[in-house]
Amino acid sequence: SAKKSGGNRVERYCAQMNEEAVHRLEMDSYLRKAVEKNELFLCYQPIVNVRTGAVIATEALIRWRNPQLGLVRPDEFIPLAEETGWIHEIGRWVLQTACQQTKRWQEMTGNDKLAIFVNVSAVQFQHERFVDDVKRALKQSNLSPSCLHLELTEHSMLRHLSSTMRTLDELRRLGVGIAVDDFGSGYSSFHYLKQLPATILKIDRAFIEHLHANASDAAIVSAMITMGRGLGLETVAEGVETLEQLERLRDLQCSYAQGYALCPPLMAEEVTPYVAGQQ
Ligand code: C2E
Ligand code: MG
Ligand code: MG
Ligand code: MG
Repeated sequence: SAKKSGGNRVERYCAQMNEEAVHRLEMDSYLRKAVEKNELFLCYQPIVNVRTGAVIATEALIRWRNPQLGLVRPDEFIPLAEETGWIHEIGRWVLQTACQQTKRWQEMTGNDKLAIFVNVSAVQFQHERFVDDVKRALKQSNLSPSCLHLELTEHSMLRHLSSTMRTLDELRRLGVGIAVDDFGSGYSSFHYLKQLPATILKIDRAFIEHLHANASDAAIVSAMITMGRGLGLETVAEGVETLEQLERLRDLQCSYAQGYALCPPLMAEEVTPYVAGQQ
């Protein structure tokens, strides 16, 4: 009966695979129309100066609301969009929308230093048109390149190292910032980090979660901040959920922080008081 239960397991597995495949197909057909049907929108999460509390930037985080599927998380549909190639159209829309919104905030508040962090997927980054897409978004929004920071995970930067390096250099020449997202969560290689023309490290929230209670995490975060400083990189702590964590980060002289303790991702209108310094 070991055989029998094994068989059942396989059947269950197949049924589940099949269900997943159907779900993905369904999602794909809806995703194709998401841009034209205006189902995508951006939330923005403030990034705060740890010392002064000032909002120096926001990160654009994509959301998809579909009448049939409901609210779909980016972790679910971004991988699908990468497989099907829709990520290019979606990514262009994100860049344009985020740059325009930031320019609008700059004009409203008079703070022309307010920056925007935009997540870029590895597939999107590899496209030959990518740098042109960035240039166009900057031109159309009239946003200064120094106010745009592109977020890439270390893993996605190392995927095709030589072409990635060329693109990163080109972006740096434009004046655009490069943030290493989820730093420490992958196969962090100092050998490569040294070569990457990055400007910012975003410390993965896994290291922040127990920062106040766990000495190892505190040691690692402290080392990341020190290393960042030595390499000329600013550090942003992600996933700051408590004031204790924020206090520890201040002690460790981390430059910037982001997380629910400061502000969750919100609709643009709701973020306006934050970027205007009224919160
Ligand atoms: P990420 O870039 O590392 O974004 C941080 C994620 O952590 C976001 O999830 C954010 O809502 C969440 N978060 C923020 N503060 C806290 C906190 O204090 N605690 C906890 N537990 N979580 C917090 P979200 O919005 O679901 O996005 C997930 C991932 O999807 C992002 O991770 C990013 O990799 C990707 N993503 C989001 N927007 C885009 C986009 O426009 N383009 C691309 N290519 N990827 C995107
Ligand atoms: Mg990010
Ligand atoms: Mg992250
Ligand atoms: Mg992430």
